[in-house]
Amino acid sequence: MRLFVVISLAVALAVLGICIYKTNAEKNELAYIVKRLLWLGFGVLLVNEVALIAKTEEIYLVMDCIYFLLTDWLLYYMLQFSMEYVGSKFDDYVKRKLMILLLAVDSVSLLLNYGFHHLFCLKPVEAYGGEIYYRLDVTPVFYIHYLIIMMLVTFCLISLFYRVFRAPRFYRSRYLVIAVIMVAIVIMNILTYQSPIDMSVFGYAVEAVCIYYCVYVFTPQRLLRKTLLLVAEDMSVGLLVLDVDGKKLYHNKSARKLLDEERLLKDKEGNTLEEWCRHLYMEHHMDCNREKTFEYQGEEVTLNVHLQIMMDVNKKLQGGYFVIQDRTQEINKLKKEKYFATHDSLTGLYNKAHFFEKAEQYIKEHKEEELLIVSTDIKDFKMINDLFDSKIGDMVLNRCAQIIREQTKGALVYGRIEGDVFGILMKKSDFDEKYFVGEMQKVFDGCMDEGRTYQLINYVGVYEIAERNLPVSVMLDRARMAISTIKGDYHDKIAYYDDRLRENIRYEQELISEMEGAIEQEQFRMYLQPQMTAEGRLLGAEALIRWQHPVKGMIPPGEFIPVFEKNGLISDVDRYMWEMACRQLREWKDEGRDDLYISVNISPKDFFFLNVYQEFVNLIKKYEISPKNLKLEITETAVVMDFEHQKELISRLQKSGFIVEMDDFGSGYSSLNMLKDIYVDVLKIDMAFLKKAEDEVRSEKILQMIITLSGQLDIPVITEGVETKEQLDMLKSMGCDMFQGYYFAKPMPVGEFENRYF
Ligand code: C2E
Ligand code: CA
Ligand code: CA
Repeated sequence: MRLFVVISLAVALAVLGICIYKTNAEKNELAYIVKRLLWLGFGVLLVNEVALIAKTEEIYLVMDCIYFLLTDWLLYYMLQFSMEYVGSKFDDYVKRKLMILLLAVDSVSLLLNYGFHHLFCLKPVEAYGGEIYYRLDVTPVFYIHYLIIMMLVTFCLISLFYRVFRAPRFYRSRYLVIAVIMVAIVIMNILTYQSPIDMSVFGYAVEAVCIYYCVYVFTPQRLLRKTLLLVAEDMSVGLLVLDVDGKKLYHNKSARKLLDEERLLKDKEGNTLEEWCRHLYMEHHMDCNREKTFEYQGEEVTLNVHLQIMMDVNKKLQGGYFVIQDRTQEINKLKKEKYFATHDSLTGLYNKAHFFEKAEQYIKEHKEEELLIVSTDIKDFKMINDLFDSKIGDMVLNRCAQIIREQTKGALVYGRIEGDVFGILMKKSDFDEKYFVGEMQKVFDGCMDEGRTYQLINYVGVYEIAERNLPVSVMLDRARMAISTIKGDYHDKIAYYDDRLRENIRYEQELISEMEGAIEQEQFRMYLQPQMTAEGRLLGAEALIRWQHPVKGMIPPGEFIPVFEKNGLISDVDRYMWEMACRQLREWKDEGRDDLYISVNISPKDFFFLNVYQEFVNLIKKYEISPKNLKLEITETAVVMDFEHQKELISRLQKSGFIVEMDDFGSGYSSLNMLKDIYVDVLKIDMAFLKKAEDEVRSEKILQMIITLSGQLDIPVITEGVETKEQLDMLKSMGCDMFQGYYFAKPMPVGEFENRYF
């Protein structure tokens, strides 16, 4: 029996030794306690082993003293362990110190027992086939030690059981095992502490190993397994695990949604997601990533599928798992973002940048095709917004987009460039001018529900792509430049960009850049054209500008006035001219010729850029001349453009003494009607009446009527452009009393004018 116990103890010691060795790597607080426990357990076994081997009473006594001492500390650490293990730290400093003190006293008492035998002594007994063993013979004092031990055990058990009942089922076993073994040890101890061999010693070994196992081996792994499963189940990505043969082993909640029978996702070939995954796995047997589109009830579902192959340590295939991510929402969002980034939100056509990009791509890819860039631009679109409602404006734009999208044959790429400007790329062979000046013009149809009719002109500019390497933006600019040549025109709706146009534009650019210098260097000259009575008496003159250019020679106003009108530079030029006229009047006044007037021209654009009223009042003051000598020629167009404002301005100028003349009367559209509301001092009839008339009789009748009408309204009439005696006679007979024209004299420099008439 002794031999059996000795060998068993040796084995237990070896096992504990291994556990101690293994825990060495761990470094936390719990490991520190576990290590002590293992060492103390090792000690307990060792002293028993030594006692059994030594056989003498003396050594038995020493070993028993040490044995009880070790159990004291073993239980102390056991208590620490239990508390640490269940998560309630044993950190009450005072209680801890008190306990250590108590145990220290007990330890000393146990050691002293060797000499004093105040706790126990040993009694040899014969047992197990005649062998001599020693049995404890305890004194009542020994029970103090026993009490201490029982107290420690109780505390340990309380904390462990407390935890057993509170912990989730899942964790319960890890506390229960330790507690149960502890109870077993106590029972064994109570039963055998006075028997020849204390079998509870093995209990310590088992408990120590159990603790080691629970802390480091058993529980963490099981816990880990369970936890991992929970994590996998709850993952937001789908997880599908296939075994080595491609059979489904596991799929988590997210994958279940995608693999759901009810919601069968199918790809174009009719495979379900699971089938497709299996194919992928069987074909590849290696990691890969795919973006795959499936269909569900007619809607696209885009999945990102990552296949990860599983191998064992010997690199043998074990199966594979798929991480499946539903990217549909993300992709739809991206699509939407891309749509908004590339399309105009009002009309749904491409926006400017995208039009340029797409057109550029097309032009590059179709080198052999003859292509055009067409631009459209609605006349006075701003006015539609002002006159009606921006809703009508939007309707017009949508209508425009609709015409381009649905009716414009051959439009390859098209988009809204900005405001009311659209761009179209098309084949030259598909371009139909008739369509663009005809059908394309119906942009206002259906935009008004009150049955009002309003004619809009949709200007069309065409650039035939000759230099294919130009950026599309430049090509479009050229189409728009073509439009700029007809803008404001009621007759021409379409214009082509060609070299002549380019040359014109370059020339215009040149004029614009030279304007300022020209004023400074006094290159602008005032010419005067006399205005006469029928009898040839001089009444005054119209001031007409000439540009005496040092290189280009004499430039007539028809060449530069429209250019300057486009960008507002005209106001600088006009102001300069008005000043010259006033200076001239002042000179004449000083020479005693204040019976003559000078007529100056006011461009419609001047009203935008200048305070016209203030300008003239200032000039009159500056040169101390009478406003009566300054006639102001306002064109009919200017009046039409801003009727109320002009009416008020004209009357203000008249009140200040200026004579206001309506220039080019009859060239515009609403002439007669206007006379009703605007009181001008003189009506200057446009020479178009004398020139371009196809049906002379008719235009003569109109002329007669205008002259008669103004006579009845008491407005004097002057006719310009009188070139022949016949014309003069006719006008005279009609009742016109003032004339201007080549018949009398062409415009001439001031010096010449003075020489001739003074
Ligand atoms: P407008 O105000 O109608 O000026 C009359 C134009 O008719 C002048 O041309 C004049 O030379 C021309 N003319 C006069 N009698 C006859 C004739 O018997 N036969 C023909 N065929 N033409 C005649 P011009 O000087 O070339 O001026 C052209 C236009 O330029 C002017 O038309 C006017 O609108 C504008 N303009 C001229 N000077 C100025 C100016 O200082 N400021 C502004 N804003 N415009 C000006
Ligand atoms: Ca004029
Ligand atoms: Ca005129």
